[in-house]
Amino acid sequence: MSNQWIFLGGQFVKKEDAVVSVYDHGFLYGDGVFEGIRVYSGNVFRMAEHVQRLYESAQSIMLNIPYTKEEMVQIIVDTIKKNQLDSAYIRVVVSRGMGNLGLDPASCSQPRVIVIAEKLALFPQELYQRGLRIGSVASRRSSPDVLSPQVKSLNYLNNILVKLEANQAGVDEALMLNAQGYVTEGSADNIFIVKNGVIITPPVYLGALDGITRNAIIDLANKNGYELKETPFTRHDVYVADEVFLTGTAVEVIAVIEVDGRKIQDGKPGPVTNYLLSEFRKLVTTDGVQCYPTATTHAVV
Ligand code: PMP
Repeated sequence: MSNQWIFLGGQFVKKEDAVVSVYDHGFLYGDGVFEGIRVYSGNVFRMAEHVQRLYESAQSIMLNIPYTKEEMVQIIVDTIKKNQLDSAYIRVVVSRGMGNLGLDPASCSQPRVIVIAEKLALFPQELYQRGLRIGSVASRRSSPDVLSPQVKSLNYLNNILVKLEANQAGVDEALMLNAQGYVTEGSADNIFIVKNGVIITPPVYLGALDGITRNAIIDLANKNGYELKETPFTRHDVYVADEVFLTGTAVEVIAVIEVDGRKIQDGKPGPVTNYLLSEFRKLVTTDGVQCYPTATTHAVV
C-alpha cells in the first residue's frame, strides 16, 4: 500500500483505489482539461494563474467545474498537506465524467475532478549544465481554429505525436512549427531565442500555449532591463540565435544547445539563459500560495 492520497470524486482516496470508469469521456475521448502545477518549499507557484487557465480551458469546452476557483485552490492546498509534501508536482484533471459510448457530452452527468500531488522528480542538474538537443518535426502544431492550443485539454495527441518524432530522431525535445512554418513551441514547453541582447518568443496566437513559466520569464526579462519581443520567427532565426532556451512548469528554464544538428554558438548554455534560470529559481518560492503559512516546522517528504 502506498501512502499517497488522491483527491477524487470529492474525497481523498488511496492511490490504489483512485480509479475511474472506462465510460469516463476523459478516457474514451480525451474530453476534459488539466493543469500541471509545481510546489516549491510549500509555495504553489502562480496558483491563481494555473487555476484561472484551468477554468478558461473548461469554459472553452463548456465543462462546468463543480467548484468555485477559491474551492479549487483549497482542494489543491489540502491535497498537498494531506500528502505532507513540501516540493511537489500537482496534476489537476477535470474530465467530462461518465457517459455512454456515444461521443455526445450530453450523456455525461457529472464532471470528475482529480488532484494528484506527487513528490517532485527533479530533472538532473547535468541536463541544465549540458543543455538540450532539439529537432523540428513534420507534425505541425494544431492551429487555433481547430483545437486551440490555449485549451489545455486531455487530448494531447498532437504533442504526443511530436514527442514520438523527437524520440525517433534521437533528440531530447521536438520543435513544433505552425502550418505557415513559424516556430511555435516544444511538446510541453515554450521557446525563446536571444539575438543581439534581445529576448524573443513567438506570440501565442501563432499556436503556442500561453505558458505560465513563459509569462514569469517575460516579467523577469522586463524587470531586469532586457528588451523583450513577442514576434514571429522561423527555424533559421533559431539556428543563428545567440541563445535558445525552453520554459515550462516541469523543465523551468533550460538551454538548448543544438537545433536540427546546428550547434547554437559554442554549444553551451548562454549567460542570459543562466541568469534567467537563477532569477526564476528565486521567484518560485515566493510568488504563489503558501500551503504552510503559519507553521514553523512541517514534514518534509
Ligand atoms: N506548451 C505546452 C504544449 C505545454 O503542455 C506546456 C506545459 N504546461 C507549456 C507549453 C509550458 O507551460 P507552463 O509554463 O504553463 O507549464
